[in-house]
Amino acid sequence: MIFATCLNCIDGRAQLPVIDWIKKNYGVEYVDMITDAGMDGKLSGDYNYMDSLYDKIEISVSIHKSDCIFIVGHHDCAGNPVDDDTHRKQIILAAENLSKYGFPVTITGLWLSSEWIIEEIIKK
Ligand SMILES: [Zn+2]
Repeated sequence: MIFATCLNCIDGRAQLPVIDWIKKNYGVEYVDMITDAGMDGKLSGDYNYMDSLYDKIEISVSIHKSDCIFIVGHHDCAGNPVDDDTHRKQIILAAENLSKYGFPVTITGLWLSSEWIIEEIIKK
């Protein structure tokens, strides 16, 4: 596997730590990054929203042969200003929602703490 797929916030602080962590821990060379403000919150709720990302995920999985998708939530998120516990619940729910699409991938939820330390909180 050369590529992984990541659904992340737009927040510039959340890019390099996540890319570096995924490359180091999953042995991939590139991370296809799909971003939106408060991505974890959006993915945890509205299926219409997830549908809107389908084509982007499909390109990463089918053409780049990514077999793992990461969903990221982070502390101090301007796009999804909820408390950290709520972020964690949303990341888990987002992973469950995404798994219903049937992509042949492992789905992993990552939490980025106030110290920008990454914690794996769900894997499906
Ligand atoms: Zn954010």
